[in-house]
Amino acid sequence: MTANIQKRTANKNVHNRQISENGQIKAKVTHTTKHKLYTWHEIPDWQKDNEFIHGGYVRETNSFTECINSLFYLHNESVNIYSHLIPGLIALLLILIDKYYVPKFNTTTMTDYFFIDLFFFGAFTCLTMSSIFHCLKSHSPPVAKFGNKLDYLGIVILISTSMVSILYYGFYDSSYMFYTFSGITLLFGFACAVVSLDERFRSREWRPYRAAMFVLFGLSAFLPIGAGLVYYGSHETWTRVQLKWIILEGVLYILGASLYGGRFPEKIKPGRYDMWGHSHQIFHILVVVAALCHFTGLIKSYTYVHTYMIPVMIQA
Ligand SMILES: [Zn+2]
Repeated sequence: MTANIQKRTANKNVHNRQISENGQIKAKVTHTTKHKLYTWHEIPDWQKDNEFIHGGYVRETNSFTECINSLFYLHNESVNIYSHLIPGLIALLLILIDKYYVPKFNTTTMTDYFFIDLFFFGAFTCLTMSSIFHCLKSHSPPVAKFGNKLDYLGIVILISTSMVSILYYGFYDSSYMFYTFSGITLLFGFACAVVSLDERFRSREWRPYRAAMFVLFGLSAFLPIGAGLVYYGSHETWTRVQLKWIILEGVLYILGASLYGGRFPEKIKPGRYDMWGHSHQIFHILVVVAALCHFTGLIKSYTYVHTYMIPVMIQA
């Protein structure tokens, strides 16, 4: 496996030797398409993050051009880049074409588009920041460190915008509850953002705790759900916020974070999942599927509010 990866060289440098007027030979590199991949033992210490991934590394480039070039050949970050780049761009597209897929009611207003787009803005921010990080993480220690912070910030933005968007419909008839729980969400988000930017949490030892902190932020969603159960009862809470989708979303996030924290499956067979199927890739895909669940729940909740709640509120 390792030997194969080392041999994976697409092309060799093409040198044009030119003879100048005074007879000196100038060597000019006109086209470089060499894509040697490296093993765990060949990369510098700062790039070592997951010892169960043995090969397929892009070694420290110190060049943004080289990092961008890495988009065009397969290495152990390729799936991590594209699994978030493509859905991130789709999220941006969905903001631009919201009027075409959001079901229209007589009572639909710009505020509805704002809250649906708010979620997609969060998804777009999170997914593109993540793919940019994975693309640039081979650049150099300062760039990788900065990118990693943006990556975590993106997750915080996605969770915060997801929660605020669904809270809007869950507490459509109670602005007091909406503002209270949105405030709590934003406070949690702010705390998580601060922790993400803190140097201490970047160490490998802190990985499980960092993941756990994000899970806790996600679990804070139970506060408004608990309030809804007390205030509206179980049946209405279940229907209003399309709870089954939100629960499924939470389960997927927790599953993804647990696999990432536990480095499954590469821990079982080190070197086997270098290019395809390692924990971070599964985590990425689960984040996208969770976002799809949220989108489904959000549109259904919006539909419920406009079909059953607003007509009654207008009549009252
Ligand atoms: Zn990632």
